[in-house]
Amino acid sequence: MHGLPPVDFRAELNDEQYAAVTSPRGPALVLAGAGSGKTRTLTYRVAWLLHQGAKPWDILLLTFTNKSAKEMLERVEDLTGIPRGQFWGGTFHSIGQRIIRRNAVDAGRNPDFTILDQKESEQLFSEIIKQSDGAFIKDKTNPKAPVILDAYSHSRNTLRPMADVFAERLDWMKGGPEKLVGFCNAYEAAKKERNVCDFDDLLVLWLNLLENNPTILEHYRRRFQHLLVDEFQDTNRLQSRIIDLLASEHQIMAVGDDAQCIYTWRGADWENIVAFPQRHPGTQIHSIDTNYRSTPEILAFANEILAHRPKVEGFDRRLKAVRHRGIPPTVFTVGDTSQQAKLVGRKILQLHNEGHALADIHILYRAHYQSLELQMELNALGIPFVITSGHKFFDLIHVKDVLAHLRVIHNPQDYVALSRLLCLLPKIGPVAADKITKAAQAVAASEGRGMIRALRHPSVLQKVTEVAKDDFNDLTITLEDMLEGIENAKKKPVAVAPSSDLFTAAREKHEEKISRTPAETVRVCIEGWYGSHIKTLFPDWKDREQDLTGLIGFAAKFEDLGDLVAQVVLLNGESSDKKPEPDQDMLRLTTIHQSKGLEFPVVFLLGVADGLLPLTRAIDEGDVEEERRLFYVACTRAENILYLFAPRFAISGEGYRPLDPCRFLEEMSPDCFELADYAHRRL
Ligand code: ATP
Ligand code: MG
Repeated sequence: MHGLPPVDFRAELNDEQYAAVTSPRGPALVLAGAGSGKTRTLTYRVAWLLHQGAKPWDILLLTFTNKSAKEMLERVEDLTGIPRGQFWGGTFHSIGQRIIRRNAVDAGRNPDFTILDQKESEQLFSEIIKQSDGAFIKDKTNPKAPVILDAYSHSRNTLRPMADVFAERLDWMKGGPEKLVGFCNAYEAAKKERNVCDFDDLLVLWLNLLENNPTILEHYRRRFQHLLVDEFQDTNRLQSRIIDLLASEHQIMAVGDDAQCIYTWRGADWENIVAFPQRHPGTQIHSIDTNYRSTPEILAFANEILAHRPKVEGFDRRLKAVRHRGIPPTVFTVGDTSQQAKLVGRKILQLHNEGHALADIHILYRAHYQSLELQMELNALGIPFVITSGHKFFDLIHVKDVLAHLRVIHNPQDYVALSRLLCLLPKIGPVAADKITKAAQAVAASEGRGMIRALRHPSVLQKVTEVAKDDFNDLTITLEDMLEGIENAKKKPVAVAPSSDLFTAAREKHEEKISRTPAETVRVCIEGWYGSHIKTLFPDWKDREQDLTGLIGFAAKFEDLGDLVAQVVLLNGESSDKKPEPDQDMLRLTTIHQSKGLEFPVVFLLGVADGLLPLTRAIDEGDVEEERRLFYVACTRAENILYLFAPRFAISGEGYRPLDPCRFLEEMSPDCFELADYAHRRL
């Protein structure tokens, strides 16, 4: 393009990157390990194309997050002076939305259609079920709208017949999948009629548009002379089909790393990468093995993780280091997860005193609940932090629901918490909840019963709508069980056996505690009504169950239920409501999934133990390879320092649970890391 400032492509790229950036028109696949400059290659490719005369509007840049598209186009703007607003860049969903809006009528909508968020889609789906089959909702053994919708979404994203996915995922449902298929068809009609799209429609309608309208397809094929796709390993079938259609003239460059595929649970299919050359004949494959991000020590460690993959199904490669030597990754073995939190706190302060900014340190973990004890410790130490992966633990709906149980048990006059619980029951809203509460208050006053026991009185039950009666019954039984546990524990004095070994003593103390309140109270709650309720309510109930199990461990730190409830309020107040100052130096906490594509000077990885990473669920299901890739993604985020923390015990639903050493670490050569044993040290 005329008037662009010169860019010294040769000097700013290595040979492999340069070859990819300047490759001739045609399909190209850049397969490269973590931190080898894939994203950088795509950025320079955009600049290169502009230098070759392409216009910004000829280019379509698809990335995993809008943030990464923004960053890449800002870099292009720096390199070429062309404002990023002139490009089409973003996630598949954001681009799909633009294209559907421009061709709304052909896509089956009016141009002013609105997009439903997840909650709204679920509400609409519930409405549809209610309208088509009232009895279905009433039968509480049937899956709820979010669960059905999640399976439907999976079928759409993987382009599989919905009946197959229903049969596979909801095989426990009575009466076969036909009914569910009917609901989905009615849901489709309702969205069309109301002129709305759900999230998946942004891809599905886009694909339909291309498949059913040859002129539109032709228009976009011509329009997007150059397709660039980052993080290609995590695309699903639906996305890959859209790309294949648009890139019929093979003007595509896809960039990815099969070893970093971490979204198969959402339908990502790394076959998309493996089969790319067959689908796009004449594909030039570029591989880049030089890693610019990490020290040689960190890379040797990362390479070792992959070296022990049982069968290399993808493209095998090892990362080559160019940076100067640094310090080896260190594995800190610790007694339990609470000792882990203490040691992490101490190491952060140590690094901070040595001159590292807090913002350079990122704490990664496999699942949200694994950061709970650390959040407490950071509050205690006064270390400011932000959680960059979604909600704070105590803001999660299911955690709040369980806390509402605890609040009611602790203070039966906490009507806000009671109302929250009652509103979880079918057909009960705040007004009905209020009636039930008033009836229980009357019984409690006239019969001298406690509020919890009053809930089970026939005159209170009368106020409960018929459809909610079973749930109400189960809920009140659970509350009573929780209360009884506390009353019994108060009667029993607790003796902690003296022990000479620090480690054994700590374990015994924890076991003793867990058999008492409030950890036991939390366990009774989770095993009661709410535990079964979440299975019908949330498609990701397994993850949520795990969070709740983590809550038992958290509760084990407290001797008194009141302290636990108060601490949660304080923890939330200190960490979630306080808006960070823009310039404040803060530590970052995030899940491994959310750290994808990013890089940080210092990485602490928590919970490196079987049961935490890999997660118990993956071990039970016999497929730990995605967990290995997560381990790889986590470690390859680190530029200079990588600390791993390996607890030997976790406090969980089963009490003080021994953890086996992380199987991935066990396989690796001990030469590639240092071991620091803190398991028997007092911190
Ligand atoms: P990931 O697999 O994590 O997505 P990636 O392959 O996309 O990583 P980039 O994020 O593009 O890698 O690059 C990693 C780091 O290396 C960045 O800081 C980038 O600027 C730097 N880098 C890449 N190539 C070069 C190069 N030729 N010269 C100097 N620095 C480079
Ligand atoms: Mg990248």
